[in-house]
Amino acid sequence: MNSLQQLENKLDNCIFCKIAAGKIPSKIIHEDEELMAFHDINPAAPVHVLIIPKKHIATLSDCDESHAALLGKMMVLAPKLAQQQGCGYTINDNGSGTGGFKTLFNTGPDGGQEVYHLHMHVIGGPHPWRGQR
Ligand code: 5GP
Ligand code: ZN
Repeated sequence: MNSLQQLENKLDNCIFCKIAAGKIPSKIIHEDEELMAFHDINPAAPVHVLIIPKKHIATLSDCDESHAALLGKMMVLAPKLAQQQGCGYTINDNGSGTGGFKTLFNTGPDGGQEVYHLHMHVIGGPHPWRGQR
């Protein structure tokens, strides 16, 4: 299989590659050269956003040092999107913190990964770890 065929195969079979390519709709909240972020179709909390690389990477275990910058960009984007979505972490004038969110990578079957295209969950709202599913 040549590289073009491999790309077509991923686009055909990977739901997040299709979203990244605009082949299926999603509620996109961020797009740049390398990353895309959109609302999870089955939110576990009032805010549930997924950040993906546009390039197909199956899991976090497929990443190495060459992916460090990309992973860093995903991490840096998370609090910005959380802020936009109303669940940013802020320090009040009195010094106490409010808001906040959870970030999560599921990896492999025992990690609960369902979609094998790398993604970071950004989950927010009051006590998002309690879930609402
Ligand atoms: P995982 O369990 O792999 O970490 O999470 C996959 C997430 O992708 C799930 O929370 C699921 O709701 C979400 N998801 C699956 N298919 C789609 C889709 O077609 N569109 C969107 N926006 N989210 C999806
Ligand atoms: Zn993919």
